[in-house]
Amino acid sequence: MAMKEWKFRENSKLKTASAFSIKLVLDDVKTNVNPSDERTIIPLGHGDPSSFPCFRTTQVAEDAVVDALRSANFNGYAPKGGVLQARRSIAEYLSRNLPYKLSPDDVYVTLGAKQAIEVVLSSLRKPGANILLPKPGYPAYEALAILNQIEVRHFDLVQENGWEVDLNGLETMADDKTVAMVIINPGNPCGNIFSHHHLQKIAETARRLGILVISDEAYAHLTFGSKPFVPMGVFGSVVPVLTLGSLSKRWLIPGWRLGWIARNDPDGVFNGYGFVECIKRSLNTNSEAATFIQAAVPQILEKTSDDFFVKTIDILRKDAEMCYECLKDISCFTCLQKPQGSLFLMVKLDLSKLEGIKDDMEFCSKLAKEESVILLPGFVLRMKNWVRVTFAIEPSALEDGLERIQAFCLRHAIKK
Ligand SMILES: *Cc1c(COP(=O)(O)O)cnc(C)c1O
Repeated sequence: MAMKEWKFRENSKLKTASAFSIKLVLDDVKTNVNPSDERTIIPLGHGDPSSFPCFRTTQVAEDAVVDALRSANFNGYAPKGGVLQARRSIAEYLSRNLPYKLSPDDVYVTLGAKQAIEVVLSSLRKPGANILLPKPGYPAYEALAILNQIEVRHFDLVQENGWEVDLNGLETMADDKTVAMVIINPGNPCGNIFSHHHLQKIAETARRLGILVISDEAYAHLTFGSKPFVPMGVFGSVVPVLTLGSLSKRWLIPGWRLGWIARNDPDGVFNGYGFVECIKRSLNTNSEAATFIQAAVPQILEKTSDDFFVKTIDILRKDAEMCYECLKDISCFTCLQKPQGSLFLMVKLDLSKLEGIKDDMEFCSKLAKEESVILLPGFVLRMKNWVRVTFAIEPSALEDGLERIQAFCLRHAIKK
């Protein structure tokens, strides 16, 4: 039988959106590794230290999940928005660092912080809307803005100012179609921490512009420098804030997929705008986090001992220091400050000092090929000819990886 043509077509937006995928780019870099290199691969590209024995999660968390599972009370579907005990304990956990109290109704449980980003961005979708994203930043925001047809505008984080937001630049790029701005604190990929004073200036600027602040705090409390972590929700009376968080990074369990959205809006600004309903509807069209993992949240948040956090932070501090001290002395790298939080730092490449390497992707590909070390090329973070380095691995493996990077840069240095 004659048929005109098949009607299905690819969604071309997916192709544009997946250009901003850390995972795809790292897979690409990894294809260069020489299979006959007998040394182990040193993964300094992605931020998931959970496979290293020194970054195993606390037994408290493992027991909490086993208990919830064995109780047989959590085999059914979870309520939309999340299991009540989980919402309550997340509200209490976040309130410890706020000047007001969150209620369970201010919290929505999500499948990791990643789904929190999906839900919030799909709630902002509106013809002609634009959103202000940090550069460098976290590519998922860009991908999801594209999928939701929200125009992306980038404001700069300024290395010379400790990666603070260029607020003047941000103000000039906002217009009456700007709906929100995103900050990531502690910073991925820069390893910076915003001070109380800087967060206040961000809040005041956003208030003037009439825009929402989306504060990505996936690395909350993972700080090891002199600056304390201050949640953006502290400024909830200045500007409405949606805080995104998860267990993934602080508890070293990204595979458990448990995150949240918290509404930091003590004065109820959101109520008049139907935005909360919109978030609920968006959650209703999404899948929810596994019920027994949700049920384990109260025990995890309330029972984890400080010893576990201190141990993790001690390793990260040592790693960050070792990494910074080594990289800052490599002549083709610029790396102005020691990371103060998260799992990353950014390094600028000086290609004029390297023989036969034309850009960040080629740098990472050759490094993978010759030294079996994986780094993330900066272009995927909109920072061409930079690289992102994850220092959160077993310290002995990090030391090995840094030596290989040093050897590689020396071997490719332009001979005078
Ligand atoms: C890892 C990460 C996320 C996603 O976290 P999950 O809870 O694993 O989904 C979100 N934002 C930033 C900045 C991250 O680094």
